[in-house]
Amino acid sequence: MNPPSRTPPPTPAFAPTHDPLTPARDITHQHFQAGDQVVVLKGVAGGELWGDAMRVVAPSWHTPTDEDGWRLRDATGGAQTYVTAHPRYLVHLSRRCPDCLIYLRAVEDHLLAKYPESDTLVDCGWYTTTALGQLVHIADAQSGR
Ligand SMILES: [Zn+2]
Repeated sequence: MNPPSRTPPPTPAFAPTHDPLTPARDITHQHFQAGDQVVVLKGVAGGELWGDAMRVVAPSWHTPTDEDGWRLRDATGGAQTYVTAHPRYLVHLSRRCPDCLIYLRAVEDHLLAKYPESDTLVDCGWYTTTALGQLVHIADAQSGR
């Protein structure tokens, strides 16, 4: 038997983890603009944060929070190539700005303390995507509809 020519993508270990940081984040809608590269943080892999890298496309109403959001394009999203997210879910990849770095470091401290140096891909279970392509953080899903 030949080994498979490609390593299958690792299946994240689902580990629901409290997130006190994202719901408390204070970031304006205007902080982002079309064309920005961003990441939505989802968990930890090998002692580092991981998430979905996406490109900001256009302003879009985020219905789960009833606030201004951003339409994003996920090149690897398959059936859900486009999702709408709240600005506080996003971290800039295209530029190093203090607002995003502070949040990134805080999430890093929070999660790496819980899941240090693990080879497993840990999905903290923070986000779901609705049938209408709205990305929703677990805190917004609970407080909303
Ligand atoms: Zn930023």
